Amino acid sequence: ARKFFVGGNWKCNGTTEEVKKIVATLNDAQVPPQDVVEVVVSPPFIFLSLVKSTLRPDFHVAAQNCWVKKGGAFTGEVSAEMLVNLSIPWVILGHSERRQLLGESNEFVGEKTAYALSQGLKVIACVGETLEQREAGATLEVVAAQTKAIAERVSNWADVVIAYEPVWAIGTGKVATPAQAQEVHCELRKWLHANTSPEVAATTRIIYGGSVNGGNCKVLAGQPDVDGFLVGGASLKPEFIDIIKSAE
Ligand code: 13P
Repeated sequence: ARKFFVGGNWKCNGTTEEVKKIVATLNDAQVPPQDVVEVVVSPPFIFLSLVKSTLRPDFHVAAQNCWVKKGGAFTGEVSAEMLVNLSIPWVILGHSERRQLLGESNEFVGEKTAYALSQGLKVIACVGETLEQREAGATLEVVAAQTKAIAERVSNWADVVIAYEPVWAIGTGKVATPAQAQEVHCELRKWLHANTSPEVAATTRIIYGGSVNGGNCKVLAGQPDVDGFLVGGASLKPEFIDIIKSAE
């Protein structure tokens, strides 16, 4: 069975005071045990150390990005080596905001994934179509191409979670219907079956992101191929706890 995975992507939000408050709320929460749900929160780089050192030990921390190769003369970047040095176990790569606003290509995301994995990081790899692509009937083709650029560089799938985040659902309040999410997750699993191995397809977590909240999480979590969530806005609020609890 695939262990349920709930990630909180804080994006570019928070002051020190706000971060301390969110951590305190998480630390006080009653949630299902670690063998039922894996919880990973992803603060901005600048708060990683604070969160890492104050967060309850059964929750883990992710960076929101890292440099594509070994660190060096790359002003403004943070390397995979630095994350490892800080004992940050996870990194989110290929988020649609970076693909769209910063021009990260499928290839670049694939290369980042390969390098991060080579350094011992675990990767939450994001894929997802725009509204235009969905309306053109290109959803499966788009997510397959994004997944392929990642998959051809992965050897240890135990260190990878795929996040399906349709761009039109991110930050819009327009959550995918359970059927829409299930359809793409199921197709992604079929893609993994055909292009990696039956075992990888059966064991790799495919999580959904895009306007997940305390109200819609339960029915999405009930879909057979939805193995958890990557939560944006709601991960900054106490309802994140309800989303974690949807694992049960
Ligand atoms: P929202 O939950 O705010 O729609 O964001 C989803 C997301 O992009 C998580 O990575």
